[in-house]
Amino acid sequence: MPSRRPESRYKTPCAGCYRDTSLDITCSRSLLLPLGCRIGAHIYPAVSAVHTTSAQPEILSSNSYIMMSNTAAPSPITVSRTLAPRRRELVLLAVLLLPHLFLVSAAAARQCFWPGQAPEDSGCLSWRVMVEANNARGWRTVPDQCVAYVRGYMTRGQYLRDLAGVMEQASAYVDQADADGLDAWVFDIDDTCLSNLLYYEGKQFGAYDPLAFKAWASKEACPGIPPVLGLFAALLDKGFKVFLLSGRDEEALGPCTAANLEAEGFSGYERLIMRSPEHRGQSSSVFKSAMRKQLVEEGYRIRGNVGDQWSDLQGDCVGDRVFKIPNPMYFVP
Ligand SMILES: [Mg+2]
Repeated sequence: MPSRRPESRYKTPCAGCYRDTSLDITCSRSLLLPLGCRIGAHIYPAVSAVHTTSAQPEILSSNSYIMMSNTAAPSPITVSRTLAPRRRELVLLAVLLLPHLFLVSAAAARQCFWPGQAPEDSGCLSWRVMVEANNARGWRTVPDQCVAYVRGYMTRGQYLRDLAGVMEQASAYVDQADADGLDAWVFDIDDTCLSNLLYYEGKQFGAYDPLAFKAWASKEACPGIPPVLGLFAALLDKGFKVFLLSGRDEEALGPCTAANLEAEGFSGYERLIMRSPEHRGQSSSVFKSAMRKQLVEEGYRIRGNVGDQWSDLQGDCVGDRVFKIPNPMYFVP
């Protein structure tokens, strides 16, 4: 018996689902990804044909449409013939749009793995990582857009957390080492033992100013860096010889540097080595390499080397292990 389908009850398909005005039917199907059709409180897959002989619908067979009738249900074959052209249209549409769907999916995946920068970032985290990894070299000042970022990094806890991590690694290395009187460690001074954060913050992390820095260092007011002092003390306890090696000018800043170190707890070291007149004009890397080489020639074995600049940690006789303290404030060649 042929089915009766009052036109008023079968409206334009909603992306594959007929909407029946007499029953509570809505289509929740997207264009290419069928989600299903809601009939009353029930969700039916959009790939199933549904008919009702009462108020309660039921799934009949696999089909892209939902068929509704209160009188008689059409056979699945009739449904397929009736809807075949529509199915061809949908298949054609899917073929045309499938490449675009892949592009959208790929873009979404890229967003997931490569999230955009936070609005407040301005690439400063990437810049700091480049600095610490020694990929960014020769820079004279913190980039303008990163001054606030560097100030925040240095003063709001992350610097101290990173520094603590470095010291933990160094301490673990020290714990498994023995010293026999010739085993030595080398420490840089500026922003390794003593902090110049107050000075550089006051200068807005600008370019190196030798006269202003000399005035600052002469005050003997550089705060000690406690986690480094802890490692320093542990090394002395284990019998290591500790050498403090600084590019500061010995004639101009020797006494005040020694006094500042003493006041901040750095005492008991083997020798304070600073830049003597014959080494003026040399890069830090060249000067410190020469000083370390001299220690090795004296018979010391440099087991560890701590500094805030890569120029402290590269060159000749750098030691068995080096430990880089973070410093995004300035670069010393
Ligand atoms: Mg330094």
